[in-house]
Amino acid sequence: MVVKRNTWQREAVREALDSSDGFISAQGLHLQLRDAGSHIGLATVYRALADLATEGEADSLQSPEGEALYRACESTGHHHHLICRNCGLTVEIEAGEVERWARAVAAEHGFTDARHVVDIFGLCEKCSTA
Ligand SMILES: [Zn+2]
Ligand SMILES: [Zn+2]
Ligand SMILES: [Zn+2]
Repeated sequence: MVVKRNTWQREAVREALDSSDGFISAQGLHLQLRDAGSHIGLATVYRALADLATEGEADSLQSPEGEALYRACESTGHHHHLICRNCGLTVEIEAGEVERWARAVAAEHGFTDARHVVDIFGLCEKCSTA
């Protein structure tokens, strides 16, 4: 049996992620945990988030500013996101055209086992009219 390190810390990070809306950075989540009275370190938060993302329990993406953002996702499996730059509203989307295009382009260049990350940042309906 494999005993995982830092289990309580991971659980704390997972819970904090579950309770926050939209995507959040490691720093943002760390602040939330600190505010809630946790003594968890920032490095531990980074590691736990990376683990959760690797295991498919969290979604990760790069903001346009190059910051890694995380979210506990509703859907499992491969999907894409539409994210509001202003309020963080996130819509999970399927993108059949993107899947076909990515496969075709990879095959054309002899690539196999190709992955891709496609997320769209913009302003949601509410923020556009505000
Ligand atoms: Zn997602
Ligand atoms: Zn918005
Ligand atoms: Zn895709």
